[in-house]
Amino acid sequence: MIDRRKFIKTVSALGISLPFVKSNIKAASNPNIKNNPIILCSRGEKWGKKVLKPGWDILKKNGLLLDAIEKSANVTELDPKDTSVGYGGLPNEDGVVQLDAQIMNGPDHNCGSVACLEGIKTPCSVARLVMERTDHIHLVGKGAQDFAKMHGFKVENLLTESTRKIWVKWKENLSDKDDYFPPVDGNYDQDRSTGTINVLGLNPNGDMAGITTTSGLAWKIPGRIGDSPIIGAGLYVDNEVGAVGATGRGEEMIRSCGSFLGVEYMRNGMTAQEACEAVCKRIIDINGGSSKVDFNDKIVALSKNGDVGCASIRERKGDEPTVATWSKKGFKAIKGTYLIEI
Ligand code: ASP
Repeated sequence: MIDRRKFIKTVSALGISLPFVKSNIKAASNPNIKNNPIILCSRGEKWGKKVLKPGWDILKKNGLLLDAIEKSANVTELDPKDTSVGYGGLPNEDGVVQLDAQIMNGPDHNCGSVACLEGIKTPCSVARLVMERTDHIHLVGKGAQDFAKMHGFKVENLLTESTRKIWVKWKENLSDKDDYFPPVDGNYDQDRSTGTINVLGLNPNGDMAGITTTSGLAWKIPGRIGDSPIIGAGLYVDNEVGAVGATGRGEEMIRSCGSFLGVEYMRNGMTAQEACEAVCKRIIDINGGSSKVDFNDKIVALSKNGDVGCASIRERKGDEPTVATWSKKGFKAIKGTYLIEI
């Protein structure tokens, strides 16, 4: 029997790639690939700078790519003002914050993931430990939390006063046939909140890695897992081609293997931008056309040669699809495209 760890090490050391997964993008012949590090996140100007700064500080000094993307993703996870990721994320229908996250490392195709993780502020760091310190890929629920505790993570209450109040308001407005009165300070009339963050990186050696981390869909049924911790749905990284991450309605990304599909589109010659738009189009087609689509997904991509893409399915007034990058050229927030106008 081949020992899995030894196999992974041997394959990556020899640089073996299977013939049917050959990339169109020739790493060796593209001068842009080496020494042009870049880190990207699926946010605009407001969050982009503070998220990418710690990651870029590591990357520019040729530090570990995994450290760079983890430190960047930790920024949103630890910030209670972001209600869609980590601490301060909106809870499930029972008022419990359940977090999903994954990490994927390009050079050895290794990955780690946690889902329905309660009480730990930085799920992407736990996902990294699943990748690096176990022979498994997914850990969920209590098992994921016990594993985090084993590694010294503190179990804390992730619901803030502010998210608790939003949850109570949502619950009291659910039905006029239950025994809760609507709150005196008005109705809950927000859209069902979405968020999540993807962080993708390319280091000076041309290696790639990515993270997706989220508190998932607000008010979800307890135990629901979205696309964010599913390899190939909320994230996929292939060191020979590029990395793709997604936010928005997770069920659609799972049904379409959307991030994997985006990487495969790039492998077949699409630019990062074309690949993001093609994934959106595939989801629209799967659903029977644009008139049937009332949800949104946003896809971001970074190709092996540093080419960036961003597209969402639908237009959202006041919330254009945006991606932020930090490279030797500095910080940049780039507007993406959308396929369905409203
Ligand atoms: N994709 C996440 C999920 O379905 C939610 C989001 O990005 O807003 O859990």
